[in-house]
Amino acid sequence: MGRHEALAAVEDTGDLARVLAARFDGAPAEEVIAAAREQFADGLALVSSFGAESAVLLHLAARVDPALPVLFIDTGKLFPATLRYRDTLVERFGLRDVRVLKPSVEDLQAEDPTGALWMRDTDACCDIRKVRPLARAVAGLDAWISGRKRFQASSRSNIPLFEADGPRVKVNPLADWDPGDLRAYMQAHDLPAHPLVAEGYPSIGCMPCTSPVAEGEDPRAGRWRGGEKTECGIHFPLPQENENGAGI
Ligand code: SF4
Repeated sequence: MGRHEALAAVEDTGDLARVLAARFDGAPAEEVIAAAREQFADGLALVSSFGAESAVLLHLAARVDPALPVLFIDTGKLFPATLRYRDTLVERFGLRDVRVLKPSVEDLQAEDPTGALWMRDTDACCDIRKVRPLARAVAGLDAWISGRKRFQASSRSNIPLFEADGPRVKVNPLADWDPGDLRAYMQAHDLPAHPLVAEGYPSIGCMPCTSPVAEGEDPRAGRWRGGEKTECGIHFPLPQENENGAGI
């Protein structure tokens, strides 16, 4: 069977992810994205924060198919520079289907009416502003692409190219890239950096929960600094569809 032959017969998500991970082990990221697009067609989207390292994955995806849906979670707490950077990359790469996900008005009114929830419960805030909007958006999808890399954190040190995420497959085309690979790709394609990188932010999330990082610190040390939290929750198993099949 050729590397790009579709796997319609494999019904179990975990089996499908394992077969794809084995088949594309060592393949270039662009080939992995192309294979995912072929395998999952319109059931595939890419999730991007338009953060410090996002340009590489978005550029690769645009080379494969600029019409690939891109999901962007606007928590309402992002740096204005991130929104401007998003607009710059969308125009530069010709991305044609960027979908902005926002927290629901009902959730905000009920659970974060003053917008200060992040000060006392970051997990609850991320749940309302990131996890639930993404869960609703991916409810109708078969697979989604993430930009996670193994070097970023110990919690990410074993991520495969394809993995099961509940009933969906999560695709990690840059899993084995290191900072040198990213820098080289940015330079080779003259990609613009997020403006906050030059100000000491190697990892960029929401404004209240992101601080600059000192030389030699872990690149994600500025995320939720001072707490034990290291992930926003969108890369934990997402809430699944309810009995009626509607997204939560
Ligand atoms: Fe809220 Fe901070 Fe999470 Fe953003 S990163 S959703 S502000 S807790």
